[in-house]
Amino acid sequence: MLVSYPVRGEEPVVVEALRMRALPEGSCDHLLEFLRLYRDVVQMVADRLWNLDTKLSKKELHRLFYSDLVGLGFRAHHAKEVYVYAESLVESARSNGGRKPVLRRLSARMDKYDYKLDLDNMVLTLKLYNGYEAKLKLVTPREKVEKFRGWSNYELVVKYDGSGFWVSIYFKRTVKTVKPRTVVSIDLNFDNVTLAIFTLSGRLVKLKRFKTPLRKTLTHRIWTERIQRRYPKSWRFIKGVREAVERHGKKIKSISWDYAHKLGDLVAELALKHHSVIVLEDLDELRENNKKGRRFNKRLGLWFYRRIQFCVEYEAKERNVEVAKVNPRRTSSKCPRCGGKLVDNESRVPRCRKCGFIGDRDVVATLNIYRKYVSKYSRCGVSGVALNAPSPMRIRAGCRGKRVMR
Ligand SMILES: [Zn+2]
Repeated sequence: MLVSYPVRGEEPVVVEALRMRALPEGSCDHLLEFLRLYRDVVQMVADRLWNLDTKLSKKELHRLFYSDLVGLGFRAHHAKEVYVYAESLVESARSNGGRKPVLRRLSARMDKYDYKLDLDNMVLTLKLYNGYEAKLKLVTPREKVEKFRGWSNYELVVKYDGSGFWVSIYFKRTVKTVKPRTVVSIDLNFDNVTLAIFTLSGRLVKLKRFKTPLRKTLTHRIWTERIQRRYPKSWRFIKGVREAVERHGKKIKSISWDYAHKLGDLVAELALKHHSVIVLEDLDELRENNKKGRRFNKRLGLWFYRRIQFCVEYEAKERNVEVAKVNPRRTSSKCPRCGGKLVDNESRVPRCRKCGFIGDRDVVATLNIYRKYVSKYSRCGVSGVALNAPSPMRIRAGCRGKRVMR
């Protein structure tokens, strides 16, 4: 599984997990006992958090649980991992509207201070409760491990599945970005994704449009909602109904992930080829002014946009391509020539009331996104970024080409 997340104010980081079998050297009694104890205390903490009904800060969690956990023989970082994990379980159960989490599997998250990893000999030493240790031989092809030379590892998950042990080690590396020469601005809509590449002096280099599969997923969504409306309280508990809901959910998931992965790959490849920075609309800014984010609030919309952005960002980081975000406010309704408001006319092509400018709404959006990026980052002193934007006339020419220019 691949994961990646940007940390605000820090260099972008790529995170990847390496999962492999682990064979205990000698007895595994202490390790099994540790996993049982670990599961039980996570459950205990989760139960107490569930009854509290409010989200606690790290500090409060520490105060409530730390000394109890250490008293049970856990190490300092075990304790931290336990209450952080329990809290995340409770939070995700709550936000899904689900029931109290119940842990059955034997697995433990461990911080880098609680294990020693020897990649040369493929030996992992885990520090358990009460000073016990467990040594595990890691089983995986050499070349899979070689990839992570030079990465740092910071956390692992050890699991027992009834027949053997599994370990997932989390590696990360920071990403060095190169100075961009062009800007890829991306406008996400319900029906299509519009991508435009501009030079820093404002010339349009490329314009592409991709259809989204959202209409396709809509039918599955409608089915799900119909079922849930018919069994508003009980759908989770009737096996056949729950399975039907899950089936449609899986279909939506696979369609949209598939699309997002392909698009992310394609966008990042293009950006790499053109030495671009990728500019996206900041979806977090939508929450503050919900009315203005109306076009994103169409059913199905927002989570899908987030998924696409996640994939674009991931693929970009894999290629050391920079990603920037701008406020989406008015990107599709502002006239690129005079700043006036664009209004739909009879042929549903937006027109500026003030100056008469006519242009495709999605193309206008990519232009406005580009401009926002340029004005935001030239003010911050990013060298090489010119403030002059592309002329509206050039963009109008671009509007006529339906799919690809040049
Ligand atoms: Zn205008």
